[in-house]
Amino acid sequence: MPYTDLNPPVRTLLGPGPSNVHPRVLRAMAAPLVGHLDPAFLQVMDETKQLLKFVFQTENNLTIPLSGTGSAGMEASLFNLTEEGDEVLVAVNGYFGERMCQMVPRCGGQVRRIEAPWGQAFDPDQVEDALQEGMVKLVAMVHAETSTGVLQPLEEISEIAHRYGALLLVDAVTSLGGVELKVDQWDIDACYSGTQKCLSCPPGLSPITFGPRAEEVLLSRRTSVGSWYLDLSLIQRYWGKERTYHHTAPISMNYALREALRLVQEEGLEARFARHRLNQRALVAGLEAMGLELLVPEEYRLPSLTTVRIPAGVEEARVRPRLLKEFNIEIAGGLGDLKGQIWRIGLMGHSSRRENVFLLLSALEYLLCDEGFSVPRGDALEAAGQVYQSS
Ligand SMILES: *Cc1c(COP(=O)(O)O)cnc(C)c1O
Repeated sequence: MPYTDLNPPVRTLLGPGPSNVHPRVLRAMAAPLVGHLDPAFLQVMDETKQLLKFVFQTENNLTIPLSGTGSAGMEASLFNLTEEGDEVLVAVNGYFGERMCQMVPRCGGQVRRIEAPWGQAFDPDQVEDALQEGMVKLVAMVHAETSTGVLQPLEEISEIAHRYGALLLVDAVTSLGGVELKVDQWDIDACYSGTQKCLSCPPGLSPITFGPRAEEVLLSRRTSVGSWYLDLSLIQRYWGKERTYHHTAPISMNYALREALRLVQEEGLEARFARHRLNQRALVAGLEAMGLELLVPEEYRLPSLTTVRIPAGVEEARVRPRLLKEFNIEIAGGLGDLKGQIWRIGLMGHSSRRENVFLLLSALEYLLCDEGFSVPRGDALEAAGQVYQSS
């Protein structure tokens, strides 16, 4: 027998996703398989939809988990809402806004882009100026930019988009279940996420929700959706009353998502958001006590993902592999222009825990000293501890 038993290492996942999966979610995945039209599975589907409405904070009827990762949600949103020649305003201040720009022409749309520097949020005026220039069907924005650690405020932009007759599409892959996101109250027309970030489920599904305006656009399309697999009107016939086969739902992934969402409900949204904020504050206090500098100003800092500048003289290509090899901790480096300049530290879902904050700060302190960057020993843990004590 040339191959050994599968034996992956047990890592502490503190990168931009996947995050650590709760043991209850892993157990749910081992539950017996049933058919995709089995009454037992239909019940799982209905309950998952209800739970998704709860985490999205929406009453939208079209709220389902798509088969595929977060990018499938991005592609489904753009394919379903865009037709030949439609203008889509994409706000780019990081890697994922850039990805949207790459998808729009594949749906037949025309990209209109506005840009902000990586690490900064958009000013609503910038969106308004762009909308004044002419007919835009859809404004596409990233709520939580995982490449930079910026949290984009959306309420004002939503009001502006609607005033100009455009729909608002929001990427909530790194916010859903970890950071406040109110789909109905903020009047977001379409929103998608992924399972492996703040929901702490393995990657494989993309929760998506379409509001009344987006459903109306779907219903009044002149042409059929360019992707058969991601055509929401077809998928909705399986997830809705008709129960018409479209594709075989990934049964075990749906078990996992249902359990992950149940965990969110048990904890409560407010408590969960507060936990993400608190653990990040402790992490930030520790990083700053080590003399490190954050990329994003406090006002726009994303609780689920922190970006920190790599200090001069430290070799990024040595520290991250050592964190993995010697401490079993995964964090990530920068993308695009920020490559080699920042680390990205995720505290998402089940990974957002006090013990992980202390573990990472200790490991980083040790490694930075060992790599010749002098760090005052013990200050980081002390500073993080202060945050917890005063909370
Ligand atoms: C991770 C991520 C995606 C892509 O999700 P995949 O699951 O990798 O397909 C899209 N947008 C944002 C903001 C993300 O963080």
